[in-house]
Amino acid sequence: MTVDLKGLTGYSRALYSNWLWHQPLHLLVDAGEGLPLALGTSVFSPSVVALTHGHSDHVLGLPGFAGARRFGKGAQDKEWTVIFPKGSAGIDTIRGTIAGLWQGVSFPVTWRAVEAGDTHRLTSTRVLEAFAVTHVPPDPALGYRVLESRRRRKPDLAHLSESELERLARQQGRDFVMEEFSHVVFAHSGDAMPIDPQLVHDADLLVHDATFLHASDRRQLIHATSEEVFEVARQAAVRALVLNHLSVRYERQTALVTLREQLAASGYAGHCWLLDEGAFVNLR
Ligand SMILES: [Zn+2]
Repeated sequence: MTVDLKGLTGYSRALYSNWLWHQPLHLLVDAGEGLPLALGTSVFSPSVVALTHGHSDHVLGLPGFAGARRFGKGAQDKEWTVIFPKGSAGIDTIRGTIAGLWQGVSFPVTWRAVEAGDTHRLTSTRVLEAFAVTHVPPDPALGYRVLESRRRRKPDLAHLSESELERLARQQGRDFVMEEFSHVVFAHSGDAMPIDPQLVHDADLLVHDATFLHASDRRQLIHATSEEVFEVARQAAVRALVLNHLSVRYERQTALVTLREQLAASGYAGHCWLLDEGAFVNLR
């Protein structure tokens, strides 16, 4: 498939606001401030909002989003679902805020608390799955990936010719030569230390926390460095990578030079961007 950023809109400024709108999947990840303003008339489009954790820069846009959807000019009754880490105090608070701001108003929203490994069906062929990440324990934090079920020829039949495969399929049935597998269409780490590359093997797109350029700038093990993320992407052979959540401490032009040098030295061969505020900056 071609890899580009069509259908992707986002904002990332660490400590201020973070969110990503994946239009083709009808999926929002996180809901930092400014989200409803930025979405504009697209505010009615998302079906699922997946919250990674309850920190303010990831959830403060949710009341505005709920209000714009409930009272704006559009499909006010359209159902939406919020997926969030079970036991998150920050998310419980923002949920209470929505209920408190508009008392007696019911929203067409389903709140679903999840833990690592839980799935939520998006379409007949796609599920959203939560996975564990390391952020600021004991406050729960999750990453998410979208798995698409696909069919392919069984790898152990790779030595057979087209006509032999066709003959086998006719004699034994399609399932004799084909198998189902899960392809990672999209994954988002949320705020996190580097994730396990196996979770995102061959993914079309990975969005990952890259708060720090250098491990020496990091005091607590709660955010990844850019070099760690390039290594995840290299090991997983993801097709496209978006870094985000880069610390505000770094002067941007200098940081871009560093990121491009690190990327070139990393051995990761895919496409790569930095989401910084509202812009996707190409690092190639
Ligand atoms: Zn955080």
